[in-house]
Amino acid sequence: MGMFLRTVMKKLRQGMFDPPKTFIWPPTVYYLPRNYRGQPYNLPLIELETRGCSWNIENGGCTMCNYGGQGRDLPSEILVAQASFALSIVRGSPYIHLVPIGSFYDEREVPEDARRKITELVRDSGFVEYMGTESRAGFVTEEKITKTVDILGNIQFEVGVGLESSDDIIRELIINKGENKASFLRFYRICREKGVVSATHVLLKPPFLTESEAIDDAVKSIRWSIDNGSDYVILMVMNLRKGYTLTNWLYERGKYKLPMLWSLIKALLDLGEEYSKKVVIGGLISSETMAISAKNCEKCTDRILSLLSMYQYTWDPDYLEEAWEYPCDCKERWKELMEMRDVDLPDRILRYYEEIALELFGRDWWNENKGWIEREVYEFERVG
Ligand code: SF4
Ligand SMILES: [Zn+2]
Repeated sequence: MGMFLRTVMKKLRQGMFDPPKTFIWPPTVYYLPRNYRGQPYNLPLIELETRGCSWNIENGGCTMCNYGGQGRDLPSEILVAQASFALSIVRGSPYIHLVPIGSFYDEREVPEDARRKITELVRDSGFVEYMGTESRAGFVTEEKITKTVDILGNIQFEVGVGLESSDDIIRELIINKGENKASFLRFYRICREKGVVSATHVLLKPPFLTESEAIDDAVKSIRWSIDNGSDYVILMVMNLRKGYTLTNWLYERGKYKLPMLWSLIKALLDLGEEYSKKVVIGGLISSETMAISAKNCEKCTDRILSLLSMYQYTWDPDYLEEAWEYPCDCKERWKELMEMRDVDLPDRILRYYEEIALELFGRDWWNENKGWIEREVYEFERVG
């Protein structure tokens, strides 16, 4: 339980839901470079504007995420109308991702009747043959999945969940995920039994980690996901969203840096082909126009991003190798970053916590509360 982070996140979210945001219409659609059935494919990602992620509304949410949404309940008709309009935008696309800005299987965000009608719209579109969505793993049950699969019939269904890291300390005390590994294992089992494709989001470079620790953590987390039943992994390269996130707050104070693209390539190469062929890249393209995404230097970023897109379109590992071998001075700077070391993670987490608390809550608050916060960090048990 990361009570300190929840306190921090609630403080940072102040103003996020109040007053409710201007409604986004048409619903957001953007395209991701993918390979579908052996062919280059621009995958449409449809984001439905909902009330927002319940984990965010009730517990402050994950430290890197600004999926705030409307902050007010929306009637099912509005959600269904968004899905209907978005499907008309992407008509003809056999493979789509249709996600709320939180969890498809959270009834407070997507009421059951809306979920059913949206699924029927996809089935009746006549062009979709593969639909993906997203949810927190804890909201997924056999019963809910069965209902969706029954409606979709021959359409292949996929659900993506956010593990972020398989390391319990990183997931709870740095990301504030609020889900244990048992929840993900249960999710993989349900998907396997129901013939649903399971996808797992893993984060490249949560805050507080050095560049090399971030690569190691991503590689370990990807391996853990696939070894435990995830069909594939979406490696989310950290980006920075507008306001209200801890990563953004740290970045503005010089306490966090996005990963360099060299780190992304290194992680994919370290995985080896057996695993990397089950990994797609996320986080470099976003619906958030103001998002800052991971980069190298001005000289090589565009070229490296193009090669990574080609890799995504073709799955040809030569593009990855070519990106890795691309000559640029900034690789020396990256090598220096890779050499950076810091104190053990619990000590480091506490150091960051103190810096955050002093600015957000003041010295008196920290002195009054640091006893339980220290226990939270030093007595944290990795329970799986
Ligand atoms: S990452 Fe997912 S679970 Fe976490 S706050 Fe964002 S939408 Fe909610
Ligand atoms: Zn460069």
